Amino acid sequence: MNSARLLGAVLISSFFVSNVLAQDLDQVQIATVKITDGVYMLIGYGGNIGVSVGEDGTLLIDNQFAEVKDKIDAALLEISPHPVRFVLNTNWHHDHVSGNAAFAESGAAVIAHERSQVRMLTDQRHPDLGIEVPPYPETALPVITINESLTLHLNEDELLVFHIPNAHSDADLAFYFRRANVMHTGDLCFVDGYPYIDILNGGSIDGTIAAMDRLISMIDDRTKVIPGHGPLTDLAGLQEYREMLTTVRDRVAEQISRGRSLAEILESNPTAGFDEGRDQFVPRELFVEIVYNSLTGRSPGQQGTGNRR
Ligand SMILES: [Zn+2]
Repeated sequence: MNSARLLGAVLISSFFVSNVLAQDLDQVQIATVKITDGVYMLIGYGGNIGVSVGEDGTLLIDNQFAEVKDKIDAALLEISPHPVRFVLNTNWHHDHVSGNAAFAESGAAVIAHERSQVRMLTDQRHPDLGIEVPPYPETALPVITINESLTLHLNEDELLVFHIPNAHSDADLAFYFRRANVMHTGDLCFVDGYPYIDILNGGSIDGTIAAMDRLISMIDDRTKVIPGHGPLTDLAGLQEYREMLTTVRDRVAEQISRGRSLAEILESNPTAGFDEGRDQFVPRELFVEIVYNSLTGRSPGQQGTGNRR
């Protein structure tokens, strides 16, 4: 494991805002990507933020960290004078929702999947990242929870919010603006990287591939796609990402069927052909371990490769 990569993955995933992370957050710049007149993407530190602006008020999909809220607010003011009215969460992981409380305190209603709310109430463990996440404050919790789907009608568009089961976790929401023809996948897609899949909380590699099939079936070649992590993408980007997922999955599954250990599978480099130019936010070794755990029903931290985090 490349220690710099590992450190990056752990820091970015740690709810405990260490001095280093606090410093990193200090340095964060928010980049605004205009997609249509009413829909934008903000890139900062953590999950990509989807934005709808218009007369009905501003809606955010995810919000990164409380420490960058002022910068997010400043970026939003550049595109709309209206306040943030709704904050939606793609999942409950801290790099997506740690601004919930701050936005709620300034008047926004937080909307999330019902299992995200449950998770936010208790300690969460990510042994494969070596971290524990303490409960969120009550003010961070959603005031509206979704089980299957919801449609928001605002800013002359319809935003379809829908649950995708057992993919990155068991509490993922994906989003589609019908009129703007813009999708936000949340962590179902790390378009230029390898995904973190939360196996302890119902995620799976096969569910992630099934999620890609479903999302791909909903869009056309003019759709713009905001991934959970990585640059703005499209149908072709999702198709390539799906190809990476299925190829690595099949390579790992074939070796499992021959009785090979995780260490042996790692040795064979099952991500070959996909590493070049790919962000190592989630190191390839961790992704292979996740696929292995998902296919063998092991929990993170059980397989004993000496690669403990
Ligand atoms: Zn994420």
